[in-house]
Amino acid sequence: MAVYQSILLAVDFSPGTEVLLNRARALSAALGARLSMVHVVEPLLIDPAYELLPALPAEFEEQLEEGARKQLARLATELQVKSNDTYLRNGSTKSEILAVAESTGADLILLGRHGRHGVARLLGSTANAVLHAAKCDVLTVRLEN
Ligand code: AMP
Repeated sequence: MAVYQSILLAVDFSPGTEVLLNRARALSAALGARLSMVHVVEPLLIDPAYELLPALPAEFEEQLEEGARKQLARLATELQVKSNDTYLRNGSTKSEILAVAESTGADLILLGRHGRHGVARLLGSTANAVLHAAKCDVLTVRLEN
């Protein structure tokens, strides 16, 4: 039996993601593991107290979600991941990645990790948050930037 049978790849469409996609493709093929993908759209939390900000059109979030759906579908085609193994979720990135990992029975979560330092590293903390809370193994792939 393969070490990992079900890999969940978390994608955010940022530049440099290609290396993560390549790693997911190679790893799932080598292990004969099922590959699923997840992208999370976080709600836009804008405090109405910031009156100086121009009001965002009501359909802005829908457009964001539609854009994410298209990008996710494009990557799924590229990686030959079936549409019912592709998950677009709304909410907290960490919680939704973990929820999809549990509901799909993933035994490995694959994420990117930026080579940032200082404050930028603290801000880019998805990999860190998932790493510490996941019930399964987590592999982070160092991204180029
Ligand atoms: P970050 O910590 O924001 O630099 O992101 C590190 C990695 O977490 C990314 O390379 C993705 O693998 C994953 N990730 C970040 N944001 C999302 C998102 N909104 N949906 C799914 N995965 C994400």
